[in-house]
Amino acid sequence: MQVIVKSNVMNKLELYPKLVTGEIGGLMNVKEQKNKLIIEDIIILKQKVGGAHFRLDEDALFEFLKTNKRRAHRFKGWWHSHANFEAFWSGVDDATFDMMAGMSKFALGVVTNKRKNQVWKIVSNDGTIEVPEVIIEKSSFFKKLLMWNKMKKEVQEKVSEDDITITEEGDVEVVEFDSKEFESEEEGEDDWRNNVYETD
Ligand SMILES: [Zn+2]
Repeated sequence: MQVIVKSNVMNKLELYPKLVTGEIGGLMNVKEQKNKLIIEDIIILKQKVGGAHFRLDEDALFEFLKTNKRRAHRFKGWWHSHANFEAFWSGVDDATFDMMAGMSKFALGVVTNKRKNQVWKIVSNDGTIEVPEVIIEKSSFFKKLLMWNKMKKEVQEKVSEDDITITEEGDVEVVEFDSKEFESEEEGEDDWRNNVYETD
């Protein structure tokens, strides 16, 4: 299975983890094509903070799917960041996969961190696991910079303490915002970028 990651999605996957101190995550809007999954967008959902690992908040998830009925079938993916820890699938993550795959034929997931490491997998509702071929649409530096500035502003405007809500559009809110993060952005290993191809 191929997974196509649009440039705006890749930018968000890289930038949101840098905009918060702790872990963060949400859903992916996935369009299915023959032998291909295209990630159209990612959103952030309310989440439990303070645990060892991020976990999709089931109440927030079902609330979101209920209020977005027409689009709900598209959210077959989930993403999260382990902040400063390694990107790997934990036992808690596998439980989330089971929940997500149980609502559909399968669930696509990516775990990332502040160093931009990424690990992808697809779990089917029969328990089958597949590591997809990930194809990334390149982003221009300029576009990335524009998104960074927009997202930085969004987070600065919306976030206070642990206040997290979901807007009508499925936009976002974040946890434990720390403005110092912006000054200390460091470039990490870009190993997974070996898989970068032009898509057009
Ligand atoms: Zn995790």
